[in-house]
Amino acid sequence: MNSPIQFNSLEEKLKHFFGFDSFRPGQKEIIQAALANRDLLVVMPTGGGKSVCFQLPALLKPGLTVVVSPLIALMQDQVQALLKNGIQATFLNSSLDWHQTRSRTAAILKGKIKLLYVAPEKLLSENFLAFLQQVNSQVGIAGLAIDEAHCVSEWGHDFRPEYRQLRQLREVYPLVPICALTATATARVRQDIIEQLALRQPYFPTASFDRPNLYYEVRQKHQYSYREILQQVKKTDGSGIIYCLSRKKVEEIAFRLRQDRVKALPYHAGMSAEERTANQTSFLRDDIQVIVATIAFGMGINKPDVRFVIHYDLPRSLENYYQEAGRAGRDGDTANCWLFFSYGDVAKVKYLIEKKPDLNEQRLALQQLRQVIDYGAGTECRRRILLAYFGEDFPGNCGKCDNCLNPDPKEDWTIEAQMFLSCVARCQQKFGMMHIIDVLRGSRNKKVMQYNHHLLSTHGIGKDKSIDAWKMLGRSLLHQGLLTETTDGYSVLKLNEYSWEVLRKQRAVKIAVPSKKKSRDCHGGSDRVAEETRRIEVDALFQRLRNLRKRIADEQGIPPYMIFADSTLKLMAFQQPQSLADLAQLSGVGDYKLAYYGEQFVAETIGHCRERNQASLSDTLQLTLQLYQAGFSFKEIADQRHFSTGTIASHLAQLIELGLIREIDRFVTPERQEKIEKAIASLGHDLLRPLREFLGEGYSYDEIRLVVACWRRDSR
Ligand code: ADP
Ligand code: ZN
Repeated sequence: MNSPIQFNSLEEKLKHFFGFDSFRPGQKEIIQAALANRDLLVVMPTGGGKSVCFQLPALLKPGLTVVVSPLIALMQDQVQALLKNGIQATFLNSSLDWHQTRSRTAAILKGKIKLLYVAPEKLLSENFLAFLQQVNSQVGIAGLAIDEAHCVSEWGHDFRPEYRQLRQLREVYPLVPICALTATATARVRQDIIEQLALRQPYFPTASFDRPNLYYEVRQKHQYSYREILQQVKKTDGSGIIYCLSRKKVEEIAFRLRQDRVKALPYHAGMSAEERTANQTSFLRDDIQVIVATIAFGMGINKPDVRFVIHYDLPRSLENYYQEAGRAGRDGDTANCWLFFSYGDVAKVKYLIEKKPDLNEQRLALQQLRQVIDYGAGTECRRRILLAYFGEDFPGNCGKCDNCLNPDPKEDWTIEAQMFLSCVARCQQKFGMMHIIDVLRGSRNKKVMQYNHHLLSTHGIGKDKSIDAWKMLGRSLLHQGLLTETTDGYSVLKLNEYSWEVLRKQRAVKIAVPSKKKSRDCHGGSDRVAEETRRIEVDALFQRLRNLRKRIADEQGIPPYMIFADSTLKLMAFQQPQSLADLAQLSGVGDYKLAYYGEQFVAETIGHCRERNQASLSDTLQLTLQLYQAGFSFKEIADQRHFSTGTIASHLAQLIELGLIREIDRFVTPERQEKIEKAIASLGHDLLRPLREFLGEGYSYDEIRLVVACWRRDSR
């Protein structure tokens, strides 16, 4: 039986060395088994927290723990992170000169080091084996940890022959316990690891492969996909990876993002090794927000605070998808995984597969593609589909994937679709979506009157639905191929054969409608404003703390996440510690970091709180914000408040600049935003008038003002 004192002390040690308040599932049992000197096979998904499983025992046991790790970059990273926690760790590999090696080995023999990282080929060299003998007799070997243990298996995705020889160590040091660690899921690889390394009745807990902090979503890929990505990137505080299939696409997306003022760099096999390393380092250090990459990127990078992984193209297999998407959110904080899916892409991949000469390969690749399609086109819980692939029976209903949040069956909108399509027909198939919606909602704006569209039978028949609702239908019709849009930049809606089937009542239309929670709701408005104001305030402090972290990291030449994890900064922003004692309570703040960085972070928080008390939002802005949040249109807000649209535009612009409103698609279509942004890029944003003159009568001052506000917000 565990005595309560021992129970407490393990948790206390965890807090002391690593700053964590509690163990993640599985960690504690594994650590207890390690302390009892058992062999271990730790299989946990990426980000599950494998490192602590051998690091904490290493700190608590007498002697040196030797860690085998296949990649030099990863090794340096891990050692640096340990040093930042005040833990004595070091590594030996070919990158060190003679002097460095000597001083490190001397420190080890003096018992000053608890964790030694080595590459497998180094470990098995004669010199090193002799050195180990010395270590064994002078300080003792506490254990052997083998990271990325699937490398011993030919069935794994990364076989390394030198890993096979690690078994020799078992023969030389039969009493030293071995801890093998991997994120590879299949049973075959697990069995192989046990046999190849001659593990003795290893403790082998089975962890689920679920990554509960990841949000999975599949999006239809279409001509506005880039725009959706841009929006996602802009509203995310933190870094992300965008995967594309070809080098060309990688370059293109990275370029467009930079044009749109996002710090992004490419990464692919066509670049020189130096360039790749430089871009990777910029990414690790948060000098850039986004890395756009082919799948060449990712192996051996260990950035815990990746907030989104977007697959712009189809992944090769579902296992690949799981691993690549799994690079998001290793720190356990929420992160987004989006996959852009289209049957057009499926056809392209199929075509490539069918050109493969080897029939067997072809068959395998097609099967993998089918699994990717199952995932992409599936209407079930995405998690369930993904985990089923690893043999796990996940019950579904995860609440954190698009299908669970937007479950099928969808609503029947056949009648609305008929209204929409017939309006397109009556407008002679010469207009874009916004105009059609204006006509449906009975607008009498200039354009409607100019074309006499107020006389059409479809004018005003859709008054009872909001602009957003009609847009949702319009987009869905496009996505489902029930309507076509020209791609020449004008986005004119055209009917196709399926549209006519809908109009002839030969085809029903179902669309996925977002959950009711999001629909307009004016009740409890002031609560929501208070909530929203608080959220924004917390966000602002989080940004400040991130900036502080970045400054310190740059001074020390290390990646920011080594100072504090995002999740810890979020806690700080939320709890707003006013003293070192407050700060010490937070998860992720260990004793060493508290002493080292504590004061700076507390000072930043106090400064923020002081400034905040000096500024607060005026009532009139609050009211406009409330109406905006309730989903009202521009005109509706103006009507409700008995103000001109110009006044409302100026309210909205202020709210945008304050960061209280992120999205303005409801007021200005993405295409128009793009045109206005182009004008701003060449004329600047100090004066509205030249912009209006440049853009022409078709653009209102109100629209321009809103886009300018966004521009100002984003360029800060
Ligand atoms: P893996 O090697 O399994 O991919 P890591 O060991 O790198 O995962 O851990 C992933 C992240 O989780 C790291 O940022 C680590 O600091 C964090 N972490 C690990 N254990 C805990 C814990 N008990 N509480 C909070 N965070 C943890
Ligand atoms: Zn789900």
